[in-house]
Amino acid sequence: MLGLMQPKKLLISSLITHAARHHGTTEVVSKTVEGSVHRYTYADVERRSRQLARVLLGLGVKAQDRVATLAWNGHRHLEIYYTVSGMEAICHTINPRLHPDDITYIIDHAQDCVVFVDTSFAPLIAEIAPRIAGSVRAVVMMTEPALMPDIPMPAGMRLLCYEDLMAGADEDYAWPEFDENTASGLCYTSGTTGRPKGVLYSHRSTLLHAFAVNMAGALGFKATDRILPVVPMFHVNAWGIPHAAPMAGAALVMPGRHLDGKSLAELMNQERVTMSAGVPTVWMGLLQHLRASGERLATVERIMTGGSACPPLLIEAFGDEYGIEVQHGWGMTELSPVGTYNSPKPAQAGLTREQRYQHTLKQGRALYGVDMKIVNDAGEELPWDGVQFGDLKVRGPFVASAYFGEPAGSALDAEGWFATGDVATIDPDGFMEITDRSKDVIKSGGEWISSITLENIAVSHPDVAEAAVVAALHPKWDERPVLLVMPKPGRTIDPASVLEVYEGKVAKWWLPDAVLVVDELPHTATGKLQKTTLRTKYRHYLDQQPGQQTVPAPG
Ligand code: AMP
Repeated sequence: MLGLMQPKKLLISSLITHAARHHGTTEVVSKTVEGSVHRYTYADVERRSRQLARVLLGLGVKAQDRVATLAWNGHRHLEIYYTVSGMEAICHTINPRLHPDDITYIIDHAQDCVVFVDTSFAPLIAEIAPRIAGSVRAVVMMTEPALMPDIPMPAGMRLLCYEDLMAGADEDYAWPEFDENTASGLCYTSGTTGRPKGVLYSHRSTLLHAFAVNMAGALGFKATDRILPVVPMFHVNAWGIPHAAPMAGAALVMPGRHLDGKSLAELMNQERVTMSAGVPTVWMGLLQHLRASGERLATVERIMTGGSACPPLLIEAFGDEYGIEVQHGWGMTELSPVGTYNSPKPAQAGLTREQRYQHTLKQGRALYGVDMKIVNDAGEELPWDGVQFGDLKVRGPFVASAYFGEPAGSALDAEGWFATGDVATIDPDGFMEITDRSKDVIKSGGEWISSITLENIAVSHPDVAEAAVVAALHPKWDERPVLLVMPKPGRTIDPASVLEVYEGKVAKWWLPDAVLVVDELPHTATGKLQKTTLRTKYRHYLDQQPGQQTVPAPG
């Protein structure tokens, strides 16, 4: 017998229609790329999203077509999120910090038909336009007519202006009803080696994730909150905030492109922000600014950090000096993305300040909707004793089952678990702590760098026989790549000339912070590079090198 409750579908459009009807006057404030502050309400977002649906229908966008964005956090990006998913197409957010070759690959792989672009990415789109003409038929600049850049377009591709299109569009669109398992969003991750892979979210997974993160033990937004997502909307849906905030009726404050400490502090105080979320690099920048300027944050109650391990200094400094609670979460693109959140259980009630801060360094306990386990090399589950560590596996209704273009279930093991590539312990209270990473990548300022790609380029140098790239801890960027190169017999290597071979092949912020010439590299019995030994040996290399060159911020 089926239950007799209403079979209303879990569709993304319902989030914005709910916000428009029940929180219609709640603000969405955006710092635009052009520098002005834009202010309107959830009722406006919903109305303009319906207009934008008319625009996209006019551009020939059909159900399940991929519509891409190259954009910062802002009101138009929010409209695109709701319009594209709401009209049954797929909103494909692209990370503009990637190398143009990767962006071209991703657009081609996804077969995007329309790309929305912030004006700050005009040079990028001008560069790649001839290479994406196979699938993209329109580039829509997210601005008003007076600020339109002049970009030459290849034959068959149109350059359009967002506000120009909106000015002529009707509002008479009605959000369609369809299967809640329909694909709604696409986000490529380079968290594994090789080419970026697409994670394809559904309406159902997105709504379940929004419910899960809105629990009081997680991000838990309230209608009185004013949320500033520093985490970009091109990074796995800004950790679900653009969906969770309207669901709760919390106001959104979108920071645009300037994510430095000074710009964030100013916006937080001007817009009375209560909660914010971002990677540790962002919080270190904010902390430095506050300490140097003497500025205080008048309304911020808590900040969420995730994406990389949380430095103890963040928790102590924000807690003790500014009275702001640092909340720690863990997740990944394949998890929609939040998987765990570190909020206390009764067992943590009696902890001293030091114990509490120490405990916050753990990545947290599973959200409802995520199950997790740790396993040894033989695949056997390990006990939750907080000591034994193993490969972390997850499963649940907002965990990916396959990458875009591959058969459903192909990313899972025989029991339906997804291997995260993280190595962790789980304590008896269910708090997970990451101890290492089995995937061979470096996370710098919240962005991935592929060690394999850097190694492959290094060996194209005529004097290099073998190369290894490892992650070294860095006070600002969390991790930075260190390159170890072994010379060919009878050759000597000039480290500066090794850096030259990267020219034009990778984004500038991928360049190794140090090139070290070594006599030999350790190998396993099967001849593979022994990365674990190297990682341990060079983990603190950059800390121990005062004055080491730092690389400019991504983006
Ligand atoms: P992404 O798919 O880019 O969101 O990256 C996900 C990966 O980032 C995870 O598999 C972890 O390796 C890493 N990560 C995310 N959150 C944390 C955290 N709180 N602490 C340590 N590593 C993290």
